[in-house]
Amino acid sequence: MLDCMTRRRWIADTWTETTASLKGEQAGHLARVLRAQPGQIFDVVANGFLHRAEIVTADEREVVFALHEELEAESALPVHLLMAVFKFDHMEWGMEKATELGVARITPVIARRTEKHLAQAAAKRVERWRRIVREASQQSRRSDVPEVDDPVTLKVALGMVSAERKLLLAETEQENSLKAALVGEVASVALAIGPEGGWAAEEIALFAESGWRSVTLGPRILRAETAAIAGLAVCAAML
Ligand code: SAM
Repeated sequence: MLDCMTRRRWIADTWTETTASLKGEQAGHLARVLRAQPGQIFDVVANGFLHRAEIVTADEREVVFALHEELEAESALPVHLLMAVFKFDHMEWGMEKATELGVARITPVIARRTEKHLAQAAAKRVERWRRIVREASQQSRRSDVPEVDDPVTLKVALGMVSAERKLLLAETEQENSLKAALVGEVASVALAIGPEGGWAAEEIALFAESGWRSVTLGPRILRAETAAIAGLAVCAAML
């Protein structure tokens, strides 16, 4: 187990039953920067499973591994994060940290108070968000990569949630804490974080109609990315 905590981990771009390949930037980095050679052993995630894997061929376009035994891997936290779109640099930092903390899925939401130019640019940003969570998964030695959906309106996002417990993080909530909402057997959770201006009243009503409960992270107003990190840390402790 210790070995597998220290060995460098890669997430394969393509795979078969017995082999896995890294392509593009990942192959270039491994072949050129790390001077990969046939026979070297790494941990490789292929098709969601973690394996010990041996390099068979390596060049800058493709590194091919033979997959050896499957290794024990931790699973993602069963948390689906609905994240209102806000300032990209802060939001991306939050996505990276949420990935390190184990989030399973992130749905970017175009909220009423998402700034117009960010709402317009969000669709083009998704590929970058997927790259960020992939790199954060690798860096934090996850065996899977969180799903990042295309940005959608709140109404559409609410229809995409199947979690057992649906919790709206709200700075206006004063009584019910996130921690208290997670006591007992909870199989899966959805958390929603608002934009910098917070959720609009009609959005809070929409959440309530869809069975969401408001919860607080405490008396201070947190930035959205801080709320995402704190929320996931509480889920990690409670689930
Ligand atoms: N509208 C607020 C204001 O200016 O007073 C700020 C919104 S806050 C920057 C962004 C999001 O973080 C909120 O919509 C909420 O989801 C979350 N959040 C911030 N502080 C929180 C707290 N104490 N408890 C729960 N959620 C919080």
